[in-house]
Amino acid sequence: MTGDNDAPWLLTPGPLTTARETREAMLRDRGSRDDAFLEINARVCARLVALAGGEEASDDYVCVPVQGSGTFAVEAALGTLIPAAGGKVLVLVNGAYGARMAKICTLLGRDMEVLENAEHEPTDVAALAARLESDPAITHVAAVHCETTSGILNPIEDIARSVEKNGRRLLVDAMSSFGALPLDVKALPCEALMASSNKCLEGVPGLGFVITSKKSLAKAAGNAHSLCLDLQDQWRAMAETGQWRFTPPVHVIAALDTAIAAHAAEGGVAARGARYAENCRILVEGMRGLGFETLLPDVLQAPIIVTFHTPADPNFQFAAFYDHLRARGYVIYPGKLTQADSFRIGCIGQVGSEQMHDLTTAVASSLEDMDVTRCGT
Ligand SMILES: *Cc1c(COP(=O)(O)O)cnc(C)c1O
Repeated sequence: MTGDNDAPWLLTPGPLTTARETREAMLRDRGSRDDAFLEINARVCARLVALAGGEEASDDYVCVPVQGSGTFAVEAALGTLIPAAGGKVLVLVNGAYGARMAKICTLLGRDMEVLENAEHEPTDVAALAARLESDPAITHVAAVHCETTSGILNPIEDIARSVEKNGRRLLVDAMSSFGALPLDVKALPCEALMASSNKCLEGVPGLGFVITSKKSLAKAAGNAHSLCLDLQDQWRAMAETGQWRFTPPVHVIAALDTAIAAHAAEGGVAARGARYAENCRILVEGMRGLGFETLLPDVLQAPIIVTFHTPADPNFQFAAFYDHLRARGYVIYPGKLTQADSFRIGCIGQVGSEQMHDLTTAVASSLEDMDVTRCGT
């Protein structure tokens, strides 16, 4: 564990606290068309495909990286893989990130429908099956694995099974789960997984990526609405030359290379997922011990970010609570995305049980300073 750069611990779902070695990988300039960088880039892409289970796929899965935050990769995947003519996507929504995919499809002029569940409920797979059976025009389904809005885990295997059974294609926003929860493109199966550098892989922000098949990309030529977000063209150029079309975030990719090596050294997806699950357990137990209530029951909670109801005590003001924790070295997530009156605390990044226990102490003393006595709703 680090805490070595005088920065507060970031209990946010990303960007998050990174390891010193990851940040140090950025202390060198690299030419974007120089072999030393191209080797790093190729290694990062290959390791991301392997992490998604695509290594030995007969279908030849590839990683197509995109400059920018995770949403850039989501928009690139939706715009490239769903044809404007003849395509129709059903977007599964139970939070802000599902709603964002629906908004992107609307802006891109894709034929789109939404299947919505409340933010504290997982996607209703029976309703999904019914929609697919009753509407043969639907070609694609877009789902969010862990909805970071609430921290809920959607039943992605059941969703994938239903989509496959009905002969449609699945696009998965795996942004906040990739690297910490098992995901396998072949086993699910899915046509594309979208994720980014700065969540469970513990890299720095600036890179999105899409794991998809060469077959899907070959069919997608000419679909994209945008030059920059054309995954097919990005992949074609990189496959032909090993190079990015336009300036890549070289420092971010070098840092991700180091972060992926650390991920493997920790024990891969299983070990990282186990550390986060323990962080989550300590966080929830500690907060419940102080009287806080979680939005979600434990069975629906992904070990990524936890939503707590705002205490009924009138002395509890979120802005002051945030500042008190910030002064004690912890940055929690300042934005509220849920409809419920709530706040969120992340449990991913280079943090462990020591920080999560210490956070509980920091919360307790902050409440004392604020004169908050009732943390329930
Ligand atoms: C973080 C996240 C994104 C992408 O957000 P950016 O701010 O663009 O990086 C998309 N979907 C989910 C579920 C996320 O958690």
